[in-house]
This record gives sequence, C-alpha cells and structure tokens, in this order.
Amino acid sequence: MSRVYNFSAGPSMLPLPVLEKAQREMTDYAGTGMSVMEMSHRSKAYEEIITGAESLLRELMGIPENYRVLFLQGGASSQFAMVPLNLFGASKSADFIDTGSWSSKAIKEAARYGSANVVASSKDTNFNRIPEFDKTKFDPKADYFYICMNNTIEGTRYTQLPDTGGIPLVADMSSNILSEAVDVSRFGLIFAGAQKNMGPAGVTVVIIREDLIGHALDITPTMFNYAIHADNDSLYNTPPAYSIYICKLVYEWIRDLGGIGAIQKMNEDKAALLYDFLDSSSLFSGTVVPKDRSLMNIPFVTPDDELNKEFIKEAAAKGLVELKGHRSVGGMRASIYNAFPAEGVKLLVEFMKEFEAARR
Ligand SMILES: *Cc1c(COP(=O)(O)O)cnc(C)c1O
Repeated sequence: MSRVYNFSAGPSMLPLPVLEKAQREMTDYAGTGMSVMEMSHRSKAYEEIITGAESLLRELMGIPENYRVLFLQGGASSQFAMVPLNLFGASKSADFIDTGSWSSKAIKEAARYGSANVVASSKDTNFNRIPEFDKTKFDPKADYFYICMNNTIEGTRYTQLPDTGGIPLVADMSSNILSEAVDVSRFGLIFAGAQKNMGPAGVTVVIIREDLIGHALDITPTMFNYAIHADNDSLYNTPPAYSIYICKLVYEWIRDLGGIGAIQKMNEDKAALLYDFLDSSSLFSGTVVPKDRSLMNIPFVTPDDELNKEFIKEAAAKGLVELKGHRSVGGMRASIYNAFPAEGVKLLVEFMKEFEAARR
C-alpha cells in the first residue's frame, strides 16, 4: 500500500527521507555491523549520535550557552510532575494559564506538590482562544509561570508570550517545537514529547536554564531530578536510544531544508491554505478565534454531526486519514506538523470543496 496523508495529532507523520535513511541504516549503522537499536549507549558510535542530536537542536533553535538540553523518557506527561518537583522552591506556588486539556493536566499534577494558581482561563468558551491575561494578577513570588504554547486538542497557540518579569516561564511545546521561531532566552524551561513534531514516541526533550537545575524537592525520585540527567549528559541510565537517533535525522532534515525560518514559512503557507478555505466555506467552519489559530492543529466542523462522520469516512477512502476531531471539540481536526506535505493539505481542501458542492 502506498503512503497515506496522515492527519493524526500524534504520533504523526515523519519525513519520508528520514524513514528511508533509517531503513538504509537499519541493520548496519555507519559500518558498525549493528543497528542503532542493538548498540551500547556508551559506545563511541552512539555518543556521536546523541551529542550530534544535541548540537543540531541547539543550532536550529538558537539555544543559548546557559541552557542544558536533556533527552528524557516518560513523555510530556511526566513533565507535569517533574516541573513542579524541580522548580517549586521558596513559595511552592506557581501561576498557570489554563488553555485546555494539556494545561489542565499540568495544573492538576502540580497541585499535588504545592499551589497551582490559575491566573487566566478560556474555559468559558470551550478553550477556543488564548485567554486575555492581566499582569497585575500574576504572583510576583511564584516559583514559575506555566503555559501550554500550542494546544494540540483545541487548536490554539500563543502568538504573544505573557510578560512574567523575573519569574521563569515554563512552556509545554510538545506540538509546536521546531515549527516556528521561538526566543529560547524568554523561557526558563521548555519541554516537548517527540512524537508530534520531532521523532518517535519515547523521548522527551527538556531545555532548561542552568540556574533552575539542582533545587529539586527532597521527595523527588532520582529519575525525576533534572540534575541527575544534566550531570550525566542524559546517560544516567539507558536513554531512548533509537528515538533520539531518529530525532537527529529529523533535525538534519530541517537543517537541510533551510532551518526553522524555512519550515515556519512552509507551515504558515500550509495552514493558510486550510484556514482561507474555512473562512470562505458555507459548510465548514474553524472552531478557533482567528487571532489564536494554531499552525499545527486545525479543528473544523460542519453544522451536522452526521455530515462530519460522512466527511471523515469519505476522506479516509481517498487516503486522507485520521481526520476525526478530539471528542472534547467534535467534528474534524487536521494536524499538519512539519513533516506533513503541502500536497496533502491541497488535496484535503480540494476534497472539502467537492464535498460541499455535492451538498449544495
Ligand atoms: C501529546 C501532548 C502531551 C502528552 O504527551 P505524552 O508524550 O503522551 O505524555 C502533552 N502536551 C501536549 C501539548 C501534547 O500535545
């Protein structure tokens, strides 16, 4: 079977050249006579892979010298606990903006170890926007300030960061890392599970400012302590070795396309194709307020749930798969991460036009 256009929110499409390179190197990596999966994580060949992955990520994101890059396990969900365990300090209190499912989970988890104050929320409109925030409501003594930068399920993203003064800004970038330029120096900590925009599930990247390492609460499990992983260059225990290798290939792919600037332009163009159609359609409509629309995850609906179902089914028959929306939003969702080809978005829009015309 030929490859389909896979709109899955995650795990999601990887660049075909990356998969093909991994295939070529599958049984004999760089003349070692073994697969990366079979290789000691302490070997010279593997050391080159993990240090190479880090330096490519640093180059792509412009990560300053005073930040560490960690390759961890446990998914982005483990970071919901790891962040408070490591960053709660003097006040054991943090500020959060609640923008939907993933931020809600982070809030709930942080509240197990200290206080999690919600300073803004868009719950009143089913999280279809980034809420307005008022700086005077921010706690000047908070240990950190938390946002989910791209909301995978609801389809919103921040285009402006909250001004938190000296309070470290923590961002979940699981679904937008490497999709657009970010100024890393604005953040104290960035984390991202790999399986949306970077590689296979199993590795979670943490980018953390050095001064935030080394203050974990006493109850912190060893494996949840950033200092342990920083002191051991992400090799305290066996890392998710193969996933990191694929991430390295993805970083090389982005570099060869021209870096983040180039990929951002491609992402903006892809998203515009779909949003422009949604804005002109009399059958389909986007669910998010225009100013906060995600470039990566685009939820949309027709007025009729039966019609949504028909659309998803007919699209799948044309090789446009995984368009079913998340149950909290309903309808459809097109996740179009870095590796999703522009051609697939064009085909989706063409099919939407046909579907609409047939029902006029
Ligand atoms: C997918 C996702 C998560 C959860 O990631 P896991 O790796 O499954 O734990 C958290 N936050 C965001 C924004 C996500 O998109």
